[in-house]
Amino acid sequence: MSLIVQKYGGTSVGSVERIKAVAAKVAQSHASGNQLVIAVSAMSGETNRLIGLAKDIDDQPCLREMDVLVSTGEQVTIALLCMALKTLGVEARSYTGGQVRILTDNAHGKARIQEIDGHRIRADLNAGRVVVVAGFQGTDQDGNITTLGRGGSDTTAVALAAALKADECQIYTDVDGVYTTDPRVVSRARRLDKITFDEMLEMASQGSKILQIRSVEFAGKYNVPLRVMSSFEEGPGTLISLEDEDQMEKAVVSGIAFNRDEAKLTIRGIPDQPGVAYKVLGAISAANIEIDVIVQNVAKDNSATITFTVHRNDLLPAQKLLKDIAEDLGALEVDADDQIAKVSIVGVGMRSHAGVAAKMFESLAKEGINIQLITTSEIKITVVIEERYLELAVRALHSGFDLDAIG
Ligand code: ADP
Ligand code: ASP
Ligand code: MG
Repeated sequence: MSLIVQKYGGTSVGSVERIKAVAAKVAQSHASGNQLVIAVSAMSGETNRLIGLAKDIDDQPCLREMDVLVSTGEQVTIALLCMALKTLGVEARSYTGGQVRILTDNAHGKARIQEIDGHRIRADLNAGRVVVVAGFQGTDQDGNITTLGRGGSDTTAVALAAALKADECQIYTDVDGVYTTDPRVVSRARRLDKITFDEMLEMASQGSKILQIRSVEFAGKYNVPLRVMSSFEEGPGTLISLEDEDQMEKAVVSGIAFNRDEAKLTIRGIPDQPGVAYKVLGAISAANIEIDVIVQNVAKDNSATITFTVHRNDLLPAQKLLKDIAEDLGALEVDADDQIAKVSIVGVGMRSHAGVAAKMFESLAKEGINIQLITTSEIKITVVIEERYLELAVRALHSGFDLDAIG
């Protein structure tokens, strides 16, 4: 008998018909002898609808109340799914995050799971019941409802699988696995049979929203075998696991990720001396603004330029801070640009291959795409380009690294 955690995303439970279809899938797996814990998202569009209601009242609603509000979406789904399971003769119980003691910190809207008490769930499983848990939510030490950030039901599922030492965590969604790039953007994208945790983490961090970043971090840390598959059709999906010998032999580049959510800031004409980078970037970080790509250059006259990217939502506050710093440092100017995009190639094969960066730059050059910033890690190369060239760049790299599906 295997213990499996399954997660069904918004589109997979997007209507009563879909919930019935999910119930049938769960019932089938239960009938074949598996113990099942199911994590679910809100019905598709529901979380956005709830956020919209709040924004109609207050542009910057209280984060605690926001969590009370948006966590209701998942509560609807758990109840409906259990009802659907019961009509199929399957004993099932629904639980909110707090009820199964998904303990988080108190960072409303982006809480981190600290602990899960699996007792109640295990008791239900031992009694032959299917357990259905609301994704995306938990409670803090004081019992306040918290949520885990957009896409957080993935993390609920992986955390449950880690806590219960499940045999596998299956993420059911509207595509049949992880592709070489977003199949909605590149029609020739290919499904991958396998991908390593490290690669998946880079893909997610660089913008592939198929899995929430934290869910991949969790799966890697606790070595939870994770599989992404379709709730609409049968198939093996994509297994995300530790690197094995086999995978060392595979393609240099496994996938291409991209992200339109960032903006670029540049401060020119600052002194080239110790403490200046700290002064500039420290002030931005102190305001809780996450900095991504950073590049510094020093000109012949010993004046320095620092360019960095932040989330587009943080552009205005970051720009304001940077202007104050510029005044302080006697800088020449501050530039802001929100028409940028980030494209990354990801692959563990890069570790053992030279010339990958050159090939990337060649593919972009052939399309006349200018590279603004470059940053690398052991298994990824990221470039920042003008946003209007994004899709062209992704397609060029997809073909350039032989990732296109044949036929
Ligand atoms: P769910 O609601 O099930 O959580 P998401 O919308 O969060 O589903 O994630 C699935 C979507 O992720 C797909 O519809 C696809 O457009 C997108 N996606 C982005 N990058 C990839 C990729 N590399 N492989 C597969 N899907 C991807
Ligand atoms: N319902 C939440 C969201 O839309 C969480 C999730 O679906 O994973 O972000
Ligand atoms: Mg998702």
